[in-house]
Amino acid sequence: MTQDLSAVQGRDNVWEMAQRQLDEVAGLIGLNESLHGYLRQPKRVLEVSVPARMDNGAFRMYTGYRVQHNMARGPGKGGIRFHPDVTLDEVKALAMWMTWKCALVNIPFGGAKGGVICDPKRMSMQELENLTRRFTSEISIIIGPEKDIPAPDVYTTPQIMAWIMDTFSMQHGYSISGVVTGKPLAIGGSLGRDKATARGCMYVVDEAMEALGKTIEGARVAIQGFGNAGMYAAQLMDERGYRVVAVSDSHGGVANDEGLDVGRLIAHKFETGSVVGFTGGHRTDNREVLEYDCDVLVPAALEKVITRENAPRITAKIVAEAANGPTMPDADDILFDRDIMVLPDILANAGGVTVSYFEWVQDLQANFWEEEEINERLKRKLTRAFREAHEQATRHGVSMRKGAYCVAVARVAEATKLRGLYP
Ligand code: NAD
Repeated sequence: MTQDLSAVQGRDNVWEMAQRQLDEVAGLIGLNESLHGYLRQPKRVLEVSVPARMDNGAFRMYTGYRVQHNMARGPGKGGIRFHPDVTLDEVKALAMWMTWKCALVNIPFGGAKGGVICDPKRMSMQELENLTRRFTSEISIIIGPEKDIPAPDVYTTPQIMAWIMDTFSMQHGYSISGVVTGKPLAIGGSLGRDKATARGCMYVVDEAMEALGKTIEGARVAIQGFGNAGMYAAQLMDERGYRVVAVSDSHGGVANDEGLDVGRLIAHKFETGSVVGFTGGHRTDNREVLEYDCDVLVPAALEKVITRENAPRITAKIVAEAANGPTMPDADDILFDRDIMVLPDILANAGGVTVSYFEWVQDLQANFWEEEEINERLKRKLTRAFREAHEQATRHGVSMRKGAYCVAVARVAEATKLRGLYP
């Protein structure tokens, strides 16, 4: 996954930005001052030094973090990122966003996040395994199926989740699959996890279409990014009856006003590594895809791609943020003034964490569900989250992003208040 908000949104202020987003809704929901102050800070921050054996026999020191923002609603949940640009502020911000995302879709988790400052692209598999196992061991004092459950994030894969699960299990003397999600199916992963983010995104777009009185059949969709989120969004939305007219990846884009043949396009992407060169459409580029004549725009690649420069030229009526942080705050205001409904990332890409929750439940019960059941449950969760956010947005006359924050923050505040202060 690519999720590097800090790099583009100002590394030094990403945590302050997350705090500001909370401040903006505090007034709307009448959050009292002490609770507001409480929610502005993470509950727990763990910094660890991680010695990892390299292939040349020497060991190297890495720095890692696990941050738990708020656990009033349940154990912490959030990915682990392996990236050279990881900072503590970034991990704190991502942990806070996880708190709101889990609360919005109403799953019984708090928000957490982890990261190790490293460059996995320059490490061998053995070095990566050594680093993962030692990092797991260092943070094992605060993780566990009832405490805090990591998952994949940027440059961490199902294989890495398998090593985390194994290390934690070895320390306890028996298999504990519920300590981590996003695992391979063979060791307690969940069906449907691979397409969950895209599927969830489609479900909330369906709801938005209905709320705006628009017809799904033939509605034109443009998608930036053709990886896990974008490619499956194209496939699922095509099957649903939307017309996918433009897509792009890091190499460029392809468009066809009659609708792209998504099946053939995916085959082309697997064959050549890009959507570029697909013969069923004409060439376009990443910038044009965002401004392409369409009803629904799905940014599913990078952060900060919708800016105050291109926001006035976006033609879509719905922007569904499959990516994290694709819309800049000032672009958000422009889109709101232009009556464009932005489905915020904490809603539009929450399908991933929702199916992670299902994985955890299945692991704890040692009882695995059929994929249809998973998709049905996912749909119920996301449809309800959309309606609740929409109701708040309408009531306060604000954007869907603020509406979603109102729902999420109020839920976390209520749980925190009910539990009271210990001692
Ligand atoms: P991925 O690495 O599978 O795919 C990213 C895609 O973006 C690739 O097709 C890549 O070619 C494309 N891309 C890179 N640079 C581009 C550019 N300049 N213009 C257009 N496309 C470009 O990543 P992913 O898992 O699909 O994640 C995409 C976004 O979705 C990230 O912001 C991620 O945080 C978010 N997200 C993903 C999940 C998930 O479950 N996969 C869950 C929540 C959020």
